[in-house]
Amino acid sequence: MVASPNIRRREKNKKQKSKIQEIILNIITDTNWQQYAKDIKLETRAFIDGHFVDAISGGTFERINPATGKHLAQIAACDAADVDVAVRAARAAFESGVWRDLKPTERKRIMLNWANLMRENLAELALLETLDTGKPIKESVNVDASSCANTIQWYAECIDKMYDEIAPNGNSSLVMVSREAIGVVGAVVPWNYPLIITAWKLGPALAAGNSVVLKPAEQSSLSALKLAALAKEAGIPDGVLNVVTGLGHIAGQALGMHPDVDVIVFTGSTEVGRKFLEYSAKSNIKRIGLELGGKSPHIVTRNADLEKAAMYVAYAIWYNQGESCNAGSRLLLERGLRDEFMALLKPWAERLKPGDPLDPSTEMGALISPEHCSRVLEYIALGQQEGASVAIGGAQVLQESGGVFIQPTVLENVTNNMRVAREEIFGPVLVCIEFDTLEEAIQIANDSEYGLAAAIWSNDINQAHLAAKRLRAGTVWINAFDHTSVNAPFGGYKQSGFGRDKSLHAFEEYTQLKTTWLELHGSTV
Ligand code: NAD
Repeated sequence: MVASPNIRRREKNKKQKSKIQEIILNIITDTNWQQYAKDIKLETRAFIDGHFVDAISGGTFERINPATGKHLAQIAACDAADVDVAVRAARAAFESGVWRDLKPTERKRIMLNWANLMRENLAELALLETLDTGKPIKESVNVDASSCANTIQWYAECIDKMYDEIAPNGNSSLVMVSREAIGVVGAVVPWNYPLIITAWKLGPALAAGNSVVLKPAEQSSLSALKLAALAKEAGIPDGVLNVVTGLGHIAGQALGMHPDVDVIVFTGSTEVGRKFLEYSAKSNIKRIGLELGGKSPHIVTRNADLEKAAMYVAYAIWYNQGESCNAGSRLLLERGLRDEFMALLKPWAERLKPGDPLDPSTEMGALISPEHCSRVLEYIALGQQEGASVAIGGAQVLQESGGVFIQPTVLENVTNNMRVAREEIFGPVLVCIEFDTLEEAIQIANDSEYGLAAAIWSNDINQAHLAAKRLRAGTVWINAFDHTSVNAPFGGYKQSGFGRDKSLHAFEEYTQLKTTWLELHGSTV
């Protein structure tokens, strides 16, 4: 039988997709990561107006590799003076029209070039990410660096497909509603998914025609600097993308307070998000978008496929060492399931035991820093003082490596008023709270200052759907967790912030509406 064109096309797509996956797999398995880590030359200077430059003060700060405890790099410590130069460069580029006035197809072409260059440099981007953050190299290649390129490609492809509006006002006037770039965007990002979150900001910001000053977290500057080098190579004009490395309370604050920044898009802790609202109020009322912390409830009912739920519960909290804003960190488990469910979780904890992030078989790497590791250990101790008990893990391991690693951990006998159930631990620590009725589960789930994500497991789809409607969170998964796509918006309810990353809705953060009212005179008859 001859395959129809549709079937042939589908087969071709499948082949292309598996080819990409094969290339990625080869990068992971065929690269000698230890040697590459020794040989790699690191760019550690800020990127301003198209050039890598030292901080004006000449100052630097040290980055330690969290998996080895050894010196990694001295990074340029930018302060208010450098931020000012970067903002001026960004403003000049914006006003000149060198980027925003390009034909949409041309901006698209350049951003697609950039995404392709990211793919050509996937191994380097991934290695930089792993050296800085301690996350497993397999994930840095497969997820972080790959997703960064895909996001930039997705926004590039949007550029020449978005239309403006005509407001319905009759035949005597033409009322045009158009979206315009805002101007200078300050993007301040955290260390847990540097490439992914940076792409969520840069994709729509640059696609819309803005200029950007990016402030990476001090723990993770390296991949941002590489992205900037690739942006220049791709043809993004000087001044359009700037990267100011530096400490949060110095460089981050200077960007937040700068009178010529039009919008700040921030991802990070609720505590620092609050500061950006203050900076805005104290400076120029710049627009603020906030993606903040979470304490996401993961509800498992007795109607669920428990084996499948256990796998998702494990990855929801232990993936990325538990350093995920949307980590499913509160397991709400229907009473009576505890022993069975803990037995199902244990093999996953074994599989996700911490290891050298540069070993391609490692699934859980190092925490971001010794200070953060101590904080997570203090929470495990605090939970026990509050009356919880350790059901799985609970200890620091691999101290001989010089790095900071903690076992996948579960605290049980937790109640929702304990600090371990209310505060974001941001490590591989799951707290287990039991409930009797779904009504009670929903109340516990919503009894949190956060509202980033939530999930419910139930094969009673009616029950699951009704619960999903009542969960106060920006994303709710039914019988899944952390399934994600660039075309679905992501952001928080309550103190998890406001504004949305990803999807076409993200353009709302980076554009403003202009109404142009044209009164038509005369008559056609
Ligand atoms: P953080 O708030 O400490 O830092 C985030 C960024 O803000 C960094 O670039 C930092 O240098 C800067 N900063 C710090 N202090 C500052 C100050 N006083 N003024 C201006 N800038 C300052 O967060 P983190 O420790 O890097 O990341 C972890 C936090 O991020 C967690 O709370 C996590 O939930 C959150 N997060 C949220 C999302 C989301 O999409 N909602 C995604 C990832 C991480």
